[in-house]
Amino acid sequence: MNSLHEFTAEPMIAYFSMEIGVKNDIPTYSGGLGILAGDTIKSAADLKLPVIAVTLISRKGYFTQEIDPRGWQQEKPVVWDPARYMKLLPVKVKVQIEGRDVTIQAWVYLVASPTGGRIPILFLDTDVPENTPEDRGITDYLYGGDHTYRIKQEVVLGMGGVRMLHALEFHIKKYHMNEGHASFLALDLLLRFKRDIESVWDERSVWDLARVRDLCVFTTHTPVEAGHDKFPYSLVKQVLGDILPLDVLKDIAGKESLNMTLLALNLSRYINGVAKKHGEVSQHMFPGYHIHAITNGVHTFTWTCEEMAALFDKYIPGWANEPELFVRSGNIPNLELWEAHREAKRKLFATVKQTTGVDMDLNVLTLGFARRATAYKRPHLLFRDIDRLLKIAEKGPIQVVYAGKAHPHDDSGKKLIQGIYEYSEKLRGKVAVVFLPGYNMDTALKLVSGVDIWLNTPLRPLEASGTSGMKAAHNGVLNFSVLDGWWIEGHIEGFTGWSIGGPPTEYSKPGDADADDAADLYNKLENIIIPKYYSPDKDPWARMMNNAISKNAYYFNSHRMMRRYVTEAYIR
Ligand SMILES: *Cc1c(COP(=O)(O)O)cnc(C)c1O
Repeated sequence: MNSLHEFTAEPMIAYFSMEIGVKNDIPTYSGGLGILAGDTIKSAADLKLPVIAVTLISRKGYFTQEIDPRGWQQEKPVVWDPARYMKLLPVKVKVQIEGRDVTIQAWVYLVASPTGGRIPILFLDTDVPENTPEDRGITDYLYGGDHTYRIKQEVVLGMGGVRMLHALEFHIKKYHMNEGHASFLALDLLLRFKRDIESVWDERSVWDLARVRDLCVFTTHTPVEAGHDKFPYSLVKQVLGDILPLDVLKDIAGKESLNMTLLALNLSRYINGVAKKHGEVSQHMFPGYHIHAITNGVHTFTWTCEEMAALFDKYIPGWANEPELFVRSGNIPNLELWEAHREAKRKLFATVKQTTGVDMDLNVLTLGFARRATAYKRPHLLFRDIDRLLKIAEKGPIQVVYAGKAHPHDDSGKKLIQGIYEYSEKLRGKVAVVFLPGYNMDTALKLVSGVDIWLNTPLRPLEASGTSGMKAAHNGVLNFSVLDGWWIEGHIEGFTGWSIGGPPTEYSKPGDADADDAADLYNKLENIIIPKYYSPDKDPWARMMNNAISKNAYYFNSHRMMRRYVTEAYIR
């Protein structure tokens, strides 16, 4: 009946994510969450885990970023053809939305590992002739549209996904929700397992919450309350009708509105945050639930540049499928590490020249900063005291490469990008600052391997994990970051990189944090980092690069992460 028979023989883990980024040409991701999902699937394939992934096709992608002459972000639609990369399955399922049947089809993309492991990803798609023009667009825009559009997408992902797996005859032993967007899957399971015998004492006994919980794993990624999807019950009723008695629904999804995170929390046996600190922060936000922590990782092979990969092949054969072997990175001669890095730097600068026309200097200490343009990441912290920065640059020159997209509706994020352009003008001739438009997986790899220092300045404790710094470490690029998210676990001062600001036990007070953190940033840059970088003896710097590999890449990879999910979440 379908081409997936080889996968339906054994029980599988179903991994649901609103976005999955497996490669640059398939634009079904916006940022960290999607890349993490892609890395998860790649490691699952390498490790031959019985996993199937479910996501949306996002036919119009997220968006292509262009910057106009005023430094203002312009969003261009992404045009891509799923048929180039995927096969359409001959199976359709339906969900009810606003009283209509919405038909869903699925494209399958196979992630194939050199180890022989293969993981199918189902991309759900409502663009079929049976649907109304409006419904055909439900799976068009990743994070586009309003509340109503979003809830429809989440119904397609969660309920449509479970139904698609069922129609394809998969036997699922765990459902893993990567963030709350997928929680409707648990609602579908609840309907599926409805008991037909009602207890005379308790009319709710038809709902087998325990059975659903036994099947569900939930990973939360958002350390702020406002980041969780919530829908008014009036909207829920409009879209889903009376899917469950309202009092039952309110018990599991929140009194005032349907909170996708609460829904997932109440219907999952295993719940985790994405770094140790984030686990604690989440535990604080959700007392009454036991929140575990599995620290994120990145897919080692994907996030290692060619030059470093060649070096690892030579000195640490087998590294890609066994990142633990990085424990032996001390065998790599300093000079060769330094040379491989310079080559990656050259490549980044060629891209910078080609896209922005700016010439960067290979011999100058280069800082990189690339992430979603949003206030809490504080992309302007480096420019807080321009005079100070200029004085520091007189001691040893520095240059900076920025990248990152702002959400299309986020004008404050766009202003941050525009601000980078303004600082770049202000500093012209003294500190080269460029913004590289169109942050995506390809430019991300160039950036995390081609700069010397990876800068991260979030306001504590708002960075759940962060993963780009782990990518930097895979390429011997040193992290210089606020102690938040993964860096609390990866940081050894002056050994794997450097911290910015106070200890992780202190939350930043929005008022003073900027001044304190900037002061620490400037002090370390001036007195520790610049002297070390420009020292005639390159060995100490190269040794730190090596430490980043042996201590950070060794641990912060998605192979380790997936082994933890298997032993702690999946086989229980
Ligand atoms: C890795 C990556 C991210 C996430 O990086 P963070 O450090 O978690 O912000 C976002 N976008 C792209 C394109 C990436 O490759």
